[in-house]
Amino acid sequence: MKRREIVVGALGAGTLAACSQERKPMGEQASAFKPVVWKMVTTWPPNFPALGTGAKYLGDLITQLSAGRLTIKVYGAGELVPAFEVFDAVSSGTAQMGHGSAYYWKGKVPEAQYFSSVPFGLTAQEMSGWLYFGGGMDLWREVYAPHGLIPFDAGNTTVQTAGWFNREIKTVEDLKGLKMRIPGLGGEVLKRLGVTVQNIPGGELFQALDQGTIDATEWVGPYNDLAFGLHKAAKYCYYPGWHEPGTVLECMVNQSAYEALPADLQAIVEVACRVTSQRMTAEFTARNGRAVQTLVDEHGVEMRPLPAAVLSRIRVVAEQVAQELAQENPAAAAIYDSFSRYAKQTAAWTRMAEGAYLAARHADL
Ligand code: CA
Repeated sequence: MKRREIVVGALGAGTLAACSQERKPMGEQASAFKPVVWKMVTTWPPNFPALGTGAKYLGDLITQLSAGRLTIKVYGAGELVPAFEVFDAVSSGTAQMGHGSAYYWKGKVPEAQYFSSVPFGLTAQEMSGWLYFGGGMDLWREVYAPHGLIPFDAGNTTVQTAGWFNREIKTVEDLKGLKMRIPGLGGEVLKRLGVTVQNIPGGELFQALDQGTIDATEWVGPYNDLAFGLHKAAKYCYYPGWHEPGTVLECMVNQSAYEALPADLQAIVEVACRVTSQRMTAEFTARNGRAVQTLVDEHGVEMRPLPAAVLSRIRVVAEQVAQELAQENPAAAAIYDSFSRYAKQTAAWTRMAEGAYLAARHADL
């Protein structure tokens, strides 16, 4: 098989087929290509566990696989541009590459939120299915194209925690008046239930919670939450992360910079993103288990399930919010249509597969 066919076979046909049509033939152009250095700006504190180190891994992998013809220099949030300016920096070409998550750009591209995480939406595994075999990735490319950006999935947090609270949540009424950091569609859901919603970059969360600027925050999961010491600033940690059941981390690439690469380097960028995604999913799965044990055994944290009635109410609002986003523009409508049809179909099977299996495995725990 030719290289491209191997890559397509390994990754799923949708994206790569679309992408490879635009690729230049390998050969002369590849050998004539002069080595370049790209800047990768990220929304994470430098080398922050799993997220920042995942971005660094991605950069190093591209550098290594390309034998230095494409060297990636990675910048943490604030080192070159602030966390929430990554989209603009890559779009304008200040940096060639960025690592973050699509819901951070909801002010510019509201429909991008579907590619990050949808409350009560898809798990990491299901999300990967939608992106690569359900049409999701093609839609994502269409949404970013007008901004001169090409998106890749390059990480997943897996199911998050619902967050850290300094107030017990016994009923949905207890949410009213809370000042909470929660991004994306999850934030919109809680806003409708009386929460004052804020979005604050990860690196500022501990201080905001500790000083009482906010009463509650979600971040990622036990591994990342422990790294920020959120257990020292809040009494209760609730689960599950209904708002982020499998959040995709993205790598966005400046389209002009990408198109200037020979085909083999384009393929390296694409494959390195996929490898990073799988690696991060594995890392969160392994390290969250260890971290939750540390939080409970060494720090005395009480992990609490959100009451079923609270989750039930949130779920109704979450469905409304996801539907309403579809009315923002025709692109949002098309994405929601694809997403919701896939989600419905997949949920029916997941219920019989992972759902039934996990219920059986955990029945006597
Ligand atoms: Ca989160």
